[in-house]
Amino acid sequence: MFELFYPDLILDSIYHIELESLHKNQIKGLIIDIDNTLVAWDIKEADELSMQWIKRMKENGIRVCLVSNNTRDRVIKFNEQLQLFAVHSANKPTKRPFLKALKHLETHPSQTAVIGDQIFTDVWGANRLNMFSILVTPISPKEFPLIRIKRFFEKKVLKEYHARHEK
Ligand SMILES: [Mg+2]
Repeated sequence: MFELFYPDLILDSIYHIELESLHKNQIKGLIIDIDNTLVAWDIKEADELSMQWIKRMKENGIRVCLVSNNTRDRVIKFNEQLQLFAVHSANKPTKRPFLKALKHLETHPSQTAVIGDQIFTDVWGANRLNMFSILVTPISPKEFPLIRIKRFFEKKVLKEYHARHEK
């Protein structure tokens, strides 16, 4: 019953995503969340790890953009050095920010992966448009109360997901 919330892939970190697995799944574009996916939500600027990883993706022909529910200021500051196409205040899981990103990437939804740490924004948004969804473990365990409530429901979805995938 939770299929729309099921990720196609679950990883401990975005930095564990390998080029080979993207190629294998014919992924040519990435739509990436910022907070707790690329960096902890309280880190203001892109760090060395995120910059190097994104650089490596781009060098290998993978198109990359950012889609964040966070504010304009947060996204602009984070993107200062990366200079990627970025959508702020995205209101994920609505389709609009993802459609904007797809238009920029010029990739078909089936060739595009959404990477994020939240089921009800990143994974759901990806699945609604039939994109490949990759769920990563949130970088920082310290989160706002509203997100902690969502985590409670995420756990229920993941429990069922794992139960089904172990059959
Ligand atoms: Mg996030």
